[in-house]
Amino acid sequence: MYAQVIVDVAHSQVDRIFEYSCPDETKVGCRVKVPFGGRVIDGFVVGVSRVSSYPADKVKSIVGAVDELPALVPECFSLMESIACRYRVPKAAALRLFIPSEMRLGKVREAYKSYAVFKTADVKLSAAAKKQAQALEYIKARGECEFTALCNEFGRGAVNALAGKGAIEIKKRKVSRNPFSGLPKRGGEKVLTPAQRAALDDIENSDKRVHLIHGVTGSGKTEIYLNVIAREIERGRTAIFLVPEISLTPQMLAQLRNRFGGAAAILHSGLSAGERFDEWWRLRSGEAKIAIGARSAVFAPMENIGAIIIDEEHDSSYVSESAPRYSTVEIAKMRAEYNGAKLVLGSATPSVESYVKAKAGRYGLITLTERINKKPLPEIIIADMRREVRRGNNTAFSAALREELDVTLKSGNQAIIFLNRRGYSRTVLCRDCGYVAKCENCDVALTYHSEENCLKCHYCGAKYRMLTACPDCGGKHVLYSGTGTQKVVADLKGLFPAARILRMDNDTVSGKDGHYNILKQFSEKKADVLVGTQMIAKGHDFPAVTLVGIMDADMSLHFSDYRSGERTFQLITQVSGRSGRAGEAGKVVLQTCSPENYILRYAVGYDYNGFFENEIALRKATGFPPYSLICRVMVTSEDGEAALETLKNVYFSIERLRQDNPEEFIFFNKMHSPIKKIQGKLRYQVLMRLKGGALLGDIYDIAVKNTTSSTLVYVEENPVNLS
Ligand code: ADP
Ligand code: ZN
Repeated sequence: MYAQVIVDVAHSQVDRIFEYSCPDETKVGCRVKVPFGGRVIDGFVVGVSRVSSYPADKVKSIVGAVDELPALVPECFSLMESIACRYRVPKAAALRLFIPSEMRLGKVREAYKSYAVFKTADVKLSAAAKKQAQALEYIKARGECEFTALCNEFGRGAVNALAGKGAIEIKKRKVSRNPFSGLPKRGGEKVLTPAQRAALDDIENSDKRVHLIHGVTGSGKTEIYLNVIAREIERGRTAIFLVPEISLTPQMLAQLRNRFGGAAAILHSGLSAGERFDEWWRLRSGEAKIAIGARSAVFAPMENIGAIIIDEEHDSSYVSESAPRYSTVEIAKMRAEYNGAKLVLGSATPSVESYVKAKAGRYGLITLTERINKKPLPEIIIADMRREVRRGNNTAFSAALREELDVTLKSGNQAIIFLNRRGYSRTVLCRDCGYVAKCENCDVALTYHSEENCLKCHYCGAKYRMLTACPDCGGKHVLYSGTGTQKVVADLKGLFPAARILRMDNDTVSGKDGHYNILKQFSEKKADVLVGTQMIAKGHDFPAVTLVGIMDADMSLHFSDYRSGERTFQLITQVSGRSGRAGEAGKVVLQTCSPENYILRYAVGYDYNGFFENEIALRKATGFPPYSLICRVMVTSEDGEAALETLKNVYFSIERLRQDNPEEFIFFNKMHSPIKKIQGKLRYQVLMRLKGGALLGDIYDIAVKNTTSSTLVYVEENPVNLS
């Protein structure tokens, strides 16, 4: 037999299929060890055949198998072609997406446990061997016992002696490392509301492949997702459930486990390598039928997929920021198409891009306008922070927020304080000369961290000593501007000394349980106030929260990004949605320095349609997406000369493209990227606004052609972040 193999080297020069002779049992989808260029490396078997297309003496043979079962599902090969072609990556790079990285590096293996299995009590034990007799009695009563526990109880000597006499047998068995095994049960099956039932029927009966559920926060979207999944499971099919943040996975997993038991498996970058390996194989072997996870779980090793759910579809985390820079919705569409599955996108604030498609009839549109049990959406109160400063209020809290906090705490309810950043006071600024402390490697402003009393770069992690005087002019008026979570917590403690406060941001959470533990404490009401950044904005369901404070609503308004307005609207709506979800009505205090801003006005009125009509008219008038495509080609290198040289080549290649297709270009220029340097790498960019995607393939090709070992060139489409 011969195997067609793609070697696990993501390089365009070896991006083709190699042939090896192989044992008869070699299956398509298996990973194998093959000799390659004097080394032995991993490869993926993409085909097997009886005859070889090369002379037999030229064909080397496979060294061995990596997996017993094929790790890759058949669909991978079709997806591999689509992804490799769409994003111009080598086939091996596309295949890697389907295998957790720890598995590829061969660092994890199955876990085994030993068990003592009872055989016979018909053995001779000496009268002095009391422990042996007790152990045998114990094992006999149970049939089998875990070996280590048994040794702890009766001594290893006694257990081994019994095994030696044939009274018991020691057997090794594979065990699953089970993440989040202590999750509390959440939410039983519910009687669907008429709106939920109608949504479900709509998804079932329509011939559309993709559905967008636009439902206000707390309208019961999750229950619809669970029912879509349940129906597919009943039909013997499988499902993938994507959430935007890994911090949300335990909460959803709890609901899935409650409903589907062991059929739910979690794919989560925060799991231990062993846990991830086991959960992944549970899905691959078909033992588990539902995969839940963040973005990368769209590559879950499932066959026969019936439904793919993307919750909070507008979230920017669904775009990959490393190669291949895929869009999760795009991959999900490919998989839905291949499997004949339903793709369900859901959000309280759909992305403008998706909503346009839904309105044009390309997606089925389902609208849920009311919260479950018709609970009102929380009232949003605007606090004008300019006035607070004029009144001499130097804390981060407006009078309105202080009052509402007081009421909330007195009534025994909980509050969430949301802010858009991390760290204590932020950038360091000299009031005398305007000097701003920046990172030497990255050319971005440094952030002061009071816990370590140092300045940190958030792009490369470099630490700098705190300044006492300005290094430029020697002035002593060095200021720390802005507020961070620590300052808010400090102010809060001053205002409400008795309040129990939890803080959640990138500095306080680490590891897979970090998020989970903080959220768990809060949901068990072990704290009154949760202060946090973006990661508390999304999806969480805390029934006792009746107040949300948004500290700096403008933050995201002032980014130089065409989506700032959309982002701000989404953020305010999402965060507000955490308030008043259960019994009591909720409130939101929104602090801002631009209370007259129209985006804030629409947000306060929960007027998605008003926001959308306004936004889409603006995009049309200015020619921004979805009426165009923003495309950025990045050139990065440690070597400044090489980077500039490459930039020039890229620029001229695209310029030639433009001369041939002038009608496709709206805007085109080359420049320094706003952040000139990250981690010692210089960054240049060619920025374009295109009519549509007609030339994208050519632009990707230009990027691939100009990438060298020292200079990386890559393409971003409608980049989430233009820094
Ligand atoms: P969304 O995902 O739209 O924000 P959720 O699905 O979290 O909303 O639902 C909000 C709340 O309503 C949850 O506490 C959920 O348990 C509850 N809920 C959802 N559907 C029903 C139903 N049919 N009957 C009773 N309670 C429901
Ligand atoms: Zn840096």
